[in-house]
Amino acid sequence: MTNSKAGNQTIGCSVTSCRYNKDGNMCELNRIEVEPAVDVNTGEPADESLCGSYRKR
Ligand code: SF4
Repeated sequence: MTNSKAGNQTIGCSVTSCRYNKDGNMCELNRIEVEPAVDVNTGEPADESLCGSYRKR
C-alpha cells in the first residue's frame, strides 16, 4: 500500500460493521484500498469494487 493522496479526499462510508467506520457515515482511515473480489470478472460494482481495508468490529 502506498501513501499517495489525490487532493483532499475524504471517505464516506456506511459500513457500520467495520471497525474503522465512524458515526455510520464516514471512514476514519487516512487511506483505503479498493479491490476487486478474487477471481471474478462480472463488471458488477459489488464484485469489482470492494473495500480491501475493511476489518470486522
Ligand atoms: S475501511 Fe472501508 S469499510 Fe471500513 S469504514 Fe473505511 S471505507 Fe468503510
